[in-house]
Amino acid sequence: MASKEFNAFAMAQSQFDKVSDLIGLDAGAKSFLREPVREFHFLIPVRMDDGTTKVFRGFRVQHSDARGPAKGGIRFHPQETVDTVRALAMWMTWKTAVVDLPLGGGKGGVICDPHHLSLREQEQICRGWVRQVAKNVGPLADVPAPDVMTNGQHMLWMLDEFEVIHGGRYPGFITGKPVGMGGSLGRTEATGYGLIYTIREALKDMNLDPKNTTASVQGFGNVAQYAIEKFTQLGGTVTAVSCWDQNDQTSYTYKKRTGVDLNELRSITDRFGGIDPKKAQDLGYLKLAGNAWIEEEVDILLPAAIENQVTGETVNSIKKSVKIIGEGANGPTTPDADAEISKRGIFIIPDFLANAGGVTCSYFEQVQSNMNYFWEKEEVLSKLDTKMTTGFRAVSDLARSRKLYMRDAAYVISIGRVAQAVKDRGWV
Ligand code: NAD
Repeated sequence: MASKEFNAFAMAQSQFDKVSDLIGLDAGAKSFLREPVREFHFLIPVRMDDGTTKVFRGFRVQHSDARGPAKGGIRFHPQETVDTVRALAMWMTWKTAVVDLPLGGGKGGVICDPHHLSLREQEQICRGWVRQVAKNVGPLADVPAPDVMTNGQHMLWMLDEFEVIHGGRYPGFITGKPVGMGGSLGRTEATGYGLIYTIREALKDMNLDPKNTTASVQGFGNVAQYAIEKFTQLGGTVTAVSCWDQNDQTSYTYKKRTGVDLNELRSITDRFGGIDPKKAQDLGYLKLAGNAWIEEEVDILLPAAIENQVTGETVNSIKKSVKIIGEGANGPTTPDADAEISKRGIFIIPDFLANAGGVTCSYFEQVQSNMNYFWEKEEVLSKLDTKMTTGFRAVSDLARSRKLYMRDAAYVISIGRVAQAVKDRGWV
């Protein structure tokens, strides 16, 4: 969330400005793409369970729909700000473009705290949100999805309201639906598996066999667990995982020299991705400080928890053995750490490429929903592999041929594709 010192939208714009100068983007395209094309700000009145009426503030920001319908989540958060939503919408544009999905970027939100709302009140917020933007979203215009503190149930309430208003069945309006109610198989695995598909390609380029490689992971939630699953299927060894401890309000790293056992750890993990420290120690895991994951002598680091983790301070604890950093989380690396990583020649797979598996599978869900025909899991995962591998190849080839840092190369491709679309449409 944005604070007084940190403005996510200002950061998103400065990243965009840097690359648009690098590729010599003309002034028209630059001023068009550095802001959202459309924004909706509205109020959602809700009759609360105690009989009073409370008014919530909602947003939908469509940064770009030049390459296809806008795509992006809706978050419920008490500290939501429109600048955060703007930044996230812009990053979605670059994420869909880097893996070449025919989609744009959007994001939405409601300032509220679901912890203090009954399910009925949350349903009223979902339905009220859709009533405010029903004419401006939809399968051909803007396709929302879950995000922080929203889930499949919220998506179904939103879908139902949209279908009541438009008088028909439009399952392609929204993604993140439960399997059996329009959701796609493979979505749970998609982000973690997608991350490892890109790692596998990077290892190929370095002539390294995954079987002889080790990794250390920050996080043990959805992204991290499926990344570990795929990485170990390829023969790799994960020596350490770090996660948040709800009771102690701090993070710990759990380490096993011979490699962590995913199923063993899963069996002692809560639904928020927190590992039980006592049970872990009983199973022979060493319990180390939260930051110990980054100090592991491994080939690969996978920050897959939260933002702002590989920083000017922590970057110096990265061991010489580390060859690849794969950013499962959004924004785990700060710009000063980027400079050091680049200097040391560590190969980084930037977040909006590395974790694009999630949105890619959401796109598959939308396609399956629109045609009302659902694929087997193997088909979804094989299509995911193709998309991620192609996206990775485009970025790494460009980085190599133009001697660019991987993050810059990814931006060059994304911004180039979106700029081309707005020009081809004759908008600028
Ligand atoms: P999650 O809530 O399932 O898991 C988060 C994990 O991070 C938990 O294990 C938690 O204990 C750990 N964690 C939190 N704070 C920590 C800290 N200070 N130190 C160490 N560990 C900490 O979340 P997720 O869905 O796995 O998402 C992880 C990241 O990936 C986020 O940045 C998210 O935005 C990004 N992402 C997720 C998806 C997706 O499909 N789930 C897609 C794209 C990007």
